[in-house]
Amino acid sequence: MNQLHQSALMWDNHVCMPLRPDDTGFLPQIERHRAAGADMVVINAGFGNMPLSLHLEMLESFRQWFGTRADQYALIKTADDILDAKAAGKLAVAFDIEGMEVLGDDLSLIETFHDLGVKWMLIAYNEQNKVGSGCHVEDHGLSDFGCEVIREMERVGMVLCCSHTGYRTALEAIEFSNNPVILSHSNPRALHNHPRNVPDEVMVAIANSGGVMGINGIGAFLGDSEATTSSVLRHIDYAVNLIGHEHVGLGIDYVFDMEELDDFLRDNAETFPAQWGYKPGMQIVQPEQLSEITDGLQDMGYTDGAIRAILGENWMRVARQVWK
Ligand SMILES: [Zn+2]
Repeated sequence: MNQLHQSALMWDNHVCMPLRPDDTGFLPQIERHRAAGADMVVINAGFGNMPLSLHLEMLESFRQWFGTRADQYALIKTADDILDAKAAGKLAVAFDIEGMEVLGDDLSLIETFHDLGVKWMLIAYNEQNKVGSGCHVEDHGLSDFGCEVIREMERVGMVLCCSHTGYRTALEAIEFSNNPVILSHSNPRALHNHPRNVPDEVMVAIANSGGVMGINGIGAFLGDSEATTSSVLRHIDYAVNLIGHEHVGLGIDYVFDMEELDDFLRDNAETFPAQWGYKPGMQIVQPEQLSEITDGLQDMGYTDGAIRAILGENWMRVARQVWK
């Protein structure tokens, strides 16, 4: 493997394991990330209108599985924990939640999730909720409750994410936030016109907040049904040219149980319409392609410093600023 890729801090900010608390059968496959050079992965623990109980059961299940394998994995709390894990040859693990439906009216859940290792939450998973609007629906902006949520996230040290979130809600949330705001897994709309992709104005606002945009590896968002490495490189390069390499990272969104994803898309065709590319057989960038991204950036003339920033150091900078 490429030496720069191996030595760099490699951080994939969004990966998806099956959300079945009693079925840990897919978890050993996280080794594909380690083998591909990853040092830190953020694993999704819930999304949309999934019940609170299932979010908590998933976090418990993941924490139990990784916690009992502490020789191989580190459930991290601080940014330094990630560097310690890398030095010890362990894969660092944390969690994310997509959408704030799960909060209901209860601000105290933010601290509960934080204490269970949830390092970022995004505002709205495509649809409307009490905090704000998703990117698939008419956008009514950030609510008063949403403002309270953002202040509570700042208090506990959780990162605010605007992937899956509507344009107006995202801009209002970034404006209101005192911390850097991220797009954990989103692509530029200028390269592929899809509601899940973000306009230049949102990308610029994220960068101005000090935040980072993680390029997503789903073919439907890349505008490439094959999800090739060259498409990812094209999206990275567009973002770098617009907002600078200090504000670009990776959130590949790899789904380990592709069969579950196909079933989900079949069962939810109304909210995930086929004309937007949501259909069974969707391709996603594989963990094994991570090192090809480094090779490609080198071929494109990116400096080692820029490549290290994109592979993980930018996420680390945000973590150091926001996490507590
Ligand atoms: Zn997502």
